[in-house]
Amino acid sequence: MSKLPVIAIDGPAASGKGTIARRIATALGFAHLDTGTLYRVVGLSVLRKGGDPADSGAANTAVESLDLSLLEDPALRAHSTGVAASKVAAISSVREALLSFQQDFAAHPPGGKGAVLDGRDIGTVICPAATVKLFVTATPEVRAHRRFLELTTHGTSITEAEVLADIRARDARDSERAIAPLKQARDAHLLDTTHLDIEAAAVRALDIVLAVLRT
Ligand code: C5P
Repeated sequence: MSKLPVIAIDGPAASGKGTIARRIATALGFAHLDTGTLYRVVGLSVLRKGGDPADSGAANTAVESLDLSLLEDPALRAHSTGVAASKVAAISSVREALLSFQQDFAAHPPGGKGAVLDGRDIGTVICPAATVKLFVTATPEVRAHRRFLELTTHGTSITEAEVLADIRARDARDSERAIAPLKQARDAHLLDTTHLDIEAAAVRALDIVLAVLRT
């Protein structure tokens, strides 16, 4: 049986990669996995137990008894959960525990047509042989502004300066960690969304993917 196509989309927080991944999956009829939700489940689980997300003991306990009901929890998208997720994500045993789930999804996607995975290490570690790789990025200021609008629309009380400081701290944790750091794969297509709205970014991403799939 020939291998199904896999689209790997990586990038920093609020780059637009999640929306782009969903749009591509819908357009192609492929299954989509937002891998950040897995780290968010682990981070939220630790927070709910009153633990420290940077503590490997607490994070390992959470990943060993992964509570997938938290996928439906509104707190999964909270700012504090994103920060906790980036702390548990720096722990190697947590990443190892989540590796095979992601690789199985890519190899055997629901629907059997193909898979779109978005995250930080999809093109570099999870699916290094992906059919198409995209690295989606934007300046920290533009990403902070987008995230600020999103959070305040949902009633979170936070300043744009606080969001920018958190984005910078998260970028540093994600890019400087020893294991599976956030970086552009050598064979990834770079999509800078700094001057694009999400519609234009999604169209451009789909054009890149279709051009590769047609070759
Ligand atoms: O994408 P999202 O903001 O939901 O991801 C939350 C955190 O999970 C990221 O800041 C990152 O530290 C971590 N993550 C990761 N590898 C992935 C997906 C997310 O390390 N493939």
